[in-house]
Amino acid sequence: MARVIAVTNQKGGVGKTTTCVNLAASLSATKRRVLLVDMDPQGNATMGSGVDKNGVELSGYDVLTKRAGADEVIVSVENSGFDLLPANGDLTAAEVELMNEIGREHRLRLCLNAIRENYDYILIDCPPSLNLLTVNALSAADSVLIPMQCEYYALEGLAALMNTIEQIQETVNPDLQVEGILRTMYDPRNSLTLDVSGQLSEYFGDKVYKAVIPRNVRLAEAPSYGLPALKYDRASKGAVAYLALAGEMVRRHSSQKTAGSVAV
Ligand code: ADP
Ligand code: MG
Repeated sequence: MARVIAVTNQKGGVGKTTTCVNLAASLSATKRRVLLVDMDPQGNATMGSGVDKNGVELSGYDVLTKRAGADEVIVSVENSGFDLLPANGDLTAAEVELMNEIGREHRLRLCLNAIRENYDYILIDCPPSLNLLTVNALSAADSVLIPMQCEYYALEGLAALMNTIEQIQETVNPDLQVEGILRTMYDPRNSLTLDVSGQLSEYFGDKVYKAVIPRNVRLAEAPSYGLPALKYDRASKGAVAYLALAGEMVRRHSSQKTAGSVAV
């Protein structure tokens, strides 16, 4: 049964989409069955996975408005190695159409439940704001993965995000957990980076991934070829860093499972 992870941060440009596409590719390189769900009307994860957002016949819009089931909308992306539930600007219309519907926060969760057992991991790329699409993602998720840049205002942003997560726990999803905090565009030569990084570990302990994602031009170039960095330049620092993240994540889950079975 898939673990559903929403990749979220209310801030834009912190590496949510880059993380989704590259983590999806890295997890599938370790033979996990992965679905990437694009919940951002910008459709960057769709394009970055190699699917033309303007060419898709069915998208997240059709799923959220019950015009189609997830199984009809999901496409298999051969080049990238994972499955994709694509998105484009139509998602904005879904938000408007759902505005007066009962149960509007849970549409995505219900759709994913139907296909959950086909995957080991389902990653959801969120838009950079707390709208109904993000709430649908957080309602559907077991946990949130938070990419962040170690810069001056990062901790303030993180406090706001923790607040949001608490509100979601109190309303639509009491079981929502923090999956992990990922330091992106990491530059160890910058002393501020090290300061912020230290504070993060103080507050969040081992929720902070040991794997860090360096600033790497290959990660920025790969989307224009519709490829994850792993398929664009396998030896690049960016590709290697996301493989390390996938390894760390998989190890965490298998040790949690073992610990769970010992407890029982
Ligand atoms: P978000 O989805 O949070 O808005 P993106 O993943 O789209 O953020 O990243 C914002 C921009 O930064 C994009 O142009 C992306 O290619 C670039 N980028 C993201 N991560 C890195 C990185 N580690 N190194 C270099 N460029 C990056
Ligand atoms: Mg994005």
